[in-house]
This record gives sequence, C-alpha cells and structure tokens, in this order.
Amino acid sequence: MNRDRLKFYTWISQIPFPKSYPGKIMLVAFIGTHIPLIVLIIDAAFSSKTSSKTIVSTLLITLLATLIGTAVTLYALHHLLAPIVLTSKVLRRYLRLQQLTPLPTNFQDEAGTLMADTNRTLRELNEVIKHLSDYDSLTGLPNRKLFETHIQRAISNAWDRQFALIVLDIDGLKNINSTLGRGIGDLLLRKVAQRIITHTVSGDILARFGGDEFAILRVNLTDTSDSPVMLSNRLLESLSDPLSLNRKTIHCAAKIGITIYPFDGNSVERLLQNADTAIHQAKQQNLNTYQFYSPEINAQLKRILAIKENLRYALSQQELSIHYQPRIEIATGNLVAVEALLRWHSTELGIVSPAEFVPIAEETNLIASIGEWVLHNACLQNKQWQQEGIAPMRMSVNLSPSQFKQANLIETIDRILKDTNLDVAYLELEITESLLMEDVEKAIATLRQLQQKGISIALDDFGTGYSSLSYLQKLPINTLKIDRSFVTNIASNPSDAAISKAIVSLAQSLKLNITAEGVENKEQLTYLRNQGCDEVQGYYFSKPFPSDRLKDFLANYRLNS
Ligand code: C2E
Ligand code: MG
Ligand code: MG
Repeated sequence: MNRDRLKFYTWISQIPFPKSYPGKIMLVAFIGTHIPLIVLIIDAAFSSKTSSKTIVSTLLITLLATLIGTAVTLYALHHLLAPIVLTSKVLRRYLRLQQLTPLPTNFQDEAGTLMADTNRTLRELNEVIKHLSDYDSLTGLPNRKLFETHIQRAISNAWDRQFALIVLDIDGLKNINSTLGRGIGDLLLRKVAQRIITHTVSGDILARFGGDEFAILRVNLTDTSDSPVMLSNRLLESLSDPLSLNRKTIHCAAKIGITIYPFDGNSVERLLQNADTAIHQAKQQNLNTYQFYSPEINAQLKRILAIKENLRYALSQQELSIHYQPRIEIATGNLVAVEALLRWHSTELGIVSPAEFVPIAEETNLIASIGEWVLHNACLQNKQWQQEGIAPMRMSVNLSPSQFKQANLIETIDRILKDTNLDVAYLELEITESLLMEDVEKAIATLRQLQQKGISIALDDFGTGYSSLSYLQKLPINTLKIDRSFVTNIASNPSDAAISKAIVSLAQSLKLNITAEGVENKEQLTYLRNQGCDEVQGYYFSKPFPSDRLKDFLANYRLNS
C-alpha cells in the first residue's frame, strides 16, 4: 500500500531537474497553474468565430492572471514546505553533530505531527544513545566515561574542598568466570554492585569501570559521612560476607585504592592513575585491604619488592655475613659476650640493614633458613674462638618472632649445638616482646624449655614494646636489654634517665641481669654504672666487626682500659 502511495512520488523523483523535493513541488505547481492558459491558447488556435483582437486581449489577461497566480502559489508553497525542510535540517544536524534542535510542537495537522514526532523521537533516541555510552549495561551503573565527567565536575566545584576517590578491585572474578562460567561471574558483579550501593550516601557517585573494578566518588567529606577509611572498611567487611549465587556459596574479597583531591593529583587522569597505583600497593600486601596513594609508600613498596626478590638468593650467593659486637661487664671490664648481627651485601642493592631486611625475611618465611644459618655460624665461630684460646664468652643471637614460633626450634638448636660442639652455657638468645603478643603461655613454655637446657635468654629492645610489667615476672628470662633509644639521651634527658633507672631497679628486683645497648660515650657509661647496670654494649667500645677482628679488639681494648 505504501509503495502504491509512493508511485507518483517515485516517478517524479526521477526527474533530474530540479533536484530538490521543494523544487519538484514548485515545478508541479508551476505546470498546474499554467493549465488554464494553455487550454485557452489551444482553444483560440482552433476557434474561428472570435476576432483576433479579442483573442489577444483575452490571452494577455489570462497570461497576466496566470503569472500572478503562479507567483502567489509558488510563494505560498515555499512557506508551506517549511516544516519538511526544517525537519530534514534538524535530522541532519543531529546526525552530523549529535545536537538536538527543538522543532515546534503546537500544530495539529500532518506537517505539525511530523515535526512533533520527529522532535520526540530524536529526544528518545538521544537518551538511549547517551545511556548506552554512559552506563554499564550489566549493572546499570555509570561507566568510567561518565564517572570521569563527574570527577571533572567535582574538581571544578571543589574550590578548596577535598574529595575522595575510592576504587575497588574485586578478587578472583577471572577464576569464577573460568570455573563457574560467565553467567555466575555476571551475577556476582550485580550482587557486588548491590552491596556497594548500600554503603553509598546521597552525593556519592558509584560506577563500574568494566571488568572487576568499581569506583566511588565521595564529594561530601564532612563529619556526617563516613571517612574514606571507614567506608573502605565497611565495604571490605560487607564484601567478605559469603555470596549465594545459583545455590553456590562464593567468598569474595577486594582491594581498595584511595586518592584524595587535591593531595594525590589535581586532574582526573592523575587521580585515577594514582588510585590504580594504590590498588597495586594493596595487592602487594596480599590482604583484603585498602591503601592510600602516596609517592613515599609507592617507593617503599618497590623497595620491599626488590628486597624480597634479592633476599631469596642472598644465602646461596654468599652475600650474607655476620658481624660481632662486644658486650662488656661493667664491674670487671671483661668481654663477656658478643652479639651476632647479620650483614647483607647485596650485589643488586648494596648494603642493606638488617633492621630493614629481617622484617621482610619474616614475611616471606626466608627467616627460617637465614636464622638457622646465623645460629649455626655464630655457634661455630664461638667454638672456634675458644679453640684459638680466647677466653670463653656468650654468643648472643637474635631470634625473630616467627623463628621463635617454629615447631622445630628446640630440635634445630639442639642439632646446631651438637654439630658445632659448643657448650650450651655459651649461647644466649635475644627475643623481643612482640612474640609474646599472640600466645603468651606457649611462648613461656618454649622459653622455659630453652632455659632448662642452660641457654640464657635476653629480652631485647626493652621499653619499646608492650612492656607489660605483669608478665615480666612470669617470663623465664635471664637478661633485660635496655633499648638504645633510652640510652642515647640518658645523660641529658631526665625522663630517659628516669626510665632507664626504673628498668634497672625493676630488673634488680626480678633478679635479672641488665644490659644497656647503644652506649656511645663515657657519660652514658658512667650514668649506667651508677644506676647499677651489669653489662654494656655500644660504639663506645666497638662497632660490630667481622670475626677476624676480635683479636685486634681484645688487644686494643686491654690496652685502652
Ligand atoms: P638489635 O638486636 O637491637 O641490635 C642492636 C643494633 O644497634 C645493631 O644494629 C647495632 O649495630 C646497633 N648498635 C649497637 N651499638 C650502637 C651504638 O652505640 N650506636 C648506634 N647508633 N647503634 C648501635 P644492626 O646491626 O643494624 O641491627 C639492627 C637490628 O636487626 C637488630 O637490632 C636486630 O633486631 C636485627 N637483627 C640483626 N641481626 C639479626 C639476626 O641475625 N637475626 C634476627 N632475627 N634479627 C637480626
Ligand atoms: Mg639484639
Ligand atoms: Mg636491641
């Protein structure tokens, strides 16, 4: 039917000139208005009754009337075609520039309906296109593009206010997709989106970046809304609750990276990039956790990673060695012990302090093999010195918390003592209060076992940890080591002096031996002697040195004292 309707239009549209549709309508109107004139000319040509004068005057009048009629018709048609021409222009403009130009909607006839319908259709089409390009089809949340527009707006409106960007990375989506299917993966993302939404407040923008990333823009960092930390904690907690998907229970974890405008960047790109870095940092910690972005933390984590990498080969590459620091008995001036201190000269990183790499070795569990190596070599060295005729002394070895907690600690020590043939009386183990944090009773049992074997136990860095005096009397230990931080200012800072004095009298009342570490000058030594300290260790006597320097030390030390 529609085709039939278009028959005449089809025919006329094939006329090459004029090309435009209004032009063709004008041509039809032109021909139409000339029909009376043509009819009259034909009639005059075949008529013999009318005088030629009358014919000419009739033709002239008709010609004039036709010309006037044609001009008026064409003029009126030109204006009547305006709705079609305008509609076509608006459509073309939208296609070319995606710009909506409103058409009038107050006319009731077909031309008016055409304009009104076109108007509405374009508006709806525009909404659909906008939604498709701004929203995530799976969750219906804004996508990254729209989110970026919101951040840009937040930056423009921020003035001097701060806002937070919280980016979440859901763990294990890839795994779920490949093991349980994409359908379950999609379901998971929808449920996760729903959970996150419950923690957002008015003014927050939640978006899905595609894949397993979500982001929240929180512009209201006021007292009434949760801080980014509180929000992150809530999110992590809520996401860790098991999810039930198609009768399957799924545990979900996430990592969160946080950036704060303007500190962590003042452009959309920077803020998002740094949030990504923060997520990366959170991932390296390998926990269900959040992480703020900061260049310092960034650099620090890179360093930790490099240490972890290189530490694996440190033992086999013989990059580790042990230095020894003398400990002097104040009453006699004798060398009564040395502390074994680990040294690492890495080919990649240069010299790395044990204060830096020991805690990292703890995390990676490399401490087990490294610790055993130190224990073995320190005992061996002590035995060797004895065999060389040096007066026997204790070898004090640091035990890290995880080393202490190892199930086979006692057997390892037994074996090392047997292998090195060192008398148990010449071994001391230094522990720190942190290992008492978890299971005090178990720690006490292990310490008692060690002590019963004849090994002396020193509590290192005393005063910096929890220093709970209530457990101190229950602890099977022989020595308290006052931390260097109190010794440094002992002669100048009355409160440090008071603390060290309190530690000394506490140790005396518990009948413990008391050692001060970090003694660097004579004033500190005098002070500690007057307070009743038993043994001292520090640069005043000697820095830690390699084993072959002990004889030199003893010769010179005797000379100086
Ligand atoms: P720590 O056990 O408290 O060792 C004392 C630290 O103070 C040593 O640092 C020593 O060189 C330093 N020191 C000693 N006297 C002075 C002084 O007069 N002035 C100053 N400024 N410093 C002094 P080092 O060798 O860098 O060791 C740092 C920490 O690394 C140790 O603290 C210990 O906790 C740990 N560590 C070292 N070797 C081992 C080891 O074989 N195993 C374990 N688990 N930890 C170790
Ligand atoms: Mg120590
Ligand atoms: Mg110490």
